[in-house]
Amino acid sequence: MNGLTIALRDIWRLAWPYFTVREAGTVRVGRFSWTGQERVIALGLVAAIFLLNFAQVGISVRISYFNRDWFDAIQAKNAAEFWRLLFTVWVFWVVILIISYVVEYVLTSALKIRWRTWMTRDLTDRWLDRDTHYRLQFVSDGVDNPDQRIQEDVNKFITLTLTLTVGIVNQVSTLVSFTVILWGLSANLTLPGTQTAIPGLLVWAALVYAGAGTIIAHIIGRKLIALNYEQERYEANFRFSLARLREYAESVALLRGEPAEKEHLGRRFREVITNFYAIVNKQKYLTAFQQFYGSSASVVPYVIVAPFYFLDKITLGVMTQTAGAFARVEGAFAFFIFAYTTVAEYKAVVDRLTGFRQAIAETHALEETATKIALDRRGGDGRIALSDLTLGLPQGRAIVTAQDLAFAKGQSALVTGPSGSGKSTLLRAIAGIWPFGQGRIAIPAGAKVMLLPQRPYLPIGTLRQVVTYPALPGAFGDEALAHALQAARLPQLVSRLDEARNWSQTLSMGEQQRVAIARAILAKPDWLFLDEATAALDEPTEEAVYRSLKAELPEATLVSIGHRSTLHKLHERRIDMRADGDVFVPAEMREAAKT
Ligand code: ADP
Ligand code: MG
Repeated sequence: MNGLTIALRDIWRLAWPYFTVREAGTVRVGRFSWTGQERVIALGLVAAIFLLNFAQVGISVRISYFNRDWFDAIQAKNAAEFWRLLFTVWVFWVVILIISYVVEYVLTSALKIRWRTWMTRDLTDRWLDRDTHYRLQFVSDGVDNPDQRIQEDVNKFITLTLTLTVGIVNQVSTLVSFTVILWGLSANLTLPGTQTAIPGLLVWAALVYAGAGTIIAHIIGRKLIALNYEQERYEANFRFSLARLREYAESVALLRGEPAEKEHLGRRFREVITNFYAIVNKQKYLTAFQQFYGSSASVVPYVIVAPFYFLDKITLGVMTQTAGAFARVEGAFAFFIFAYTTVAEYKAVVDRLTGFRQAIAETHALEETATKIALDRRGGDGRIALSDLTLGLPQGRAIVTAQDLAFAKGQSALVTGPSGSGKSTLLRAIAGIWPFGQGRIAIPAGAKVMLLPQRPYLPIGTLRQVVTYPALPGAFGDEALAHALQAARLPQLVSRLDEARNWSQTLSMGEQQRVAIARAILAKPDWLFLDEATAALDEPTEEAVYRSLKAELPEATLVSIGHRSTLHKLHERRIDMRADGDVFVPAEMREAAKT
């Protein structure tokens, strides 16, 4: 029971926020449009969908009485009444029923689209804001596949939430209405062959019949829930392996890794197949039972009520109405079997989304608990100054301590040190994305700081978008882009700005690094940190790129991380990360100061 309460609470927390959104939304129906708060539209749509469902149940009750009268007319061989009922009662209600189904479909789709739009944006914002997407790696062993959660789970959550809630409301009201009808129909019935009157005889018969069917289907099919869930997981693993292979096509080809890949793909696929056979093995029994049950559903009601008909206790019309009501009750039970298997999938979706939201909350909490680094973006003295700074690893061990390290405006600096000595971590701290440590970092007020990481990120799209990034598309004109590419020693790319492709697979690492340099030239930062950002270039090109940077960004202060000795002469100052026990300490290298 406790687990159920938690599950319902999680569902509520995921679903309810949309119904409190106060932003303005617009509904359009043909030429009419109406603007109001989104939550009013959302609640209005839900109310309309529920009302339509109640109406549909009401109409099906009405049609069951039509059925009774119709068959009574047939029994009485009353042709006039037969046709009258068909063309007045039946046609009238069926037309309304069809309209209500179409309207319900449109309203449900509108609600799904609006809800998904809002929820996707909400989740994407939470994921991207405050560097959460980067910091997620630091909490509760990260979150796997945020892409699946945002793209697939949000959609499934909304669809299943609506299917289940609307379905439950519909089926419960169906069950209630037709139980009442069956109860009324049982009024004068006694147990066949006796005088014993049993109130609600047909209701009990229907419940026993449908209940037995549900229980047997559950016993045969319960293993299928887990198997179907596993099937999805195996399919996802297989797909992920294929996608990864595509991403690393070049490395695999160069390493001649194809046999290993085939073996691996084969193994993943065998998991898919093995599980699928297990499903077939269980499903065949369920199919046999469902076929038996489905076929008998059309005769069993008659078997139960025919004795009363033969004894002239009921009319033909009542018999068919009873059979119809039976089918309705049975259908309502069948819905709960369907809902039951869906609930397993629904729970997985709810858990994935809830886990995602919790991890996001944990990364925010990290800021309050782990981070004792005071990042002052309005530092006064024109320098980037680190004081009493200790940077740690996520597990808590300190890796860098800097008592008093400052980068003066206009003085370029080179930071060297062994791999793993925390150079990149130092830059992460200055950028404000590294949460572990303590101390103070002051950045001059209004200073524009840009960091070029070791591996440039090239988004998918046209070269124009790639070079413009992280500015928004259209931020720079073609001339500025061409100039930046030329300055970054990439003149051959100027004519390819409109070409769209996966540029990170096309350009060499050195070319990608020069694209990053072109971005820096466009962005015109006051402080430019280069984290081994030219390490893939040959020395003459590297030197040319630095000369370009100094010419294009005369006001900018360059701070580089690098290993090459040729970098020394390109910087005025050198800082070396020295091991001091377990930690590394930045130390000034006086002898390096040159041009
Ligand atoms: P480098 O001086 O080579 O740039 P880094 O700053 O990248 O070194 O890394 C310093 C240390 O911090 C390394 O031992 C590395 O394994 C560790 N480290 C870096 N990023 C993470 C992370 N996200 N989680 C755990 N440890 C990390
Ligand atoms: Mg590094």
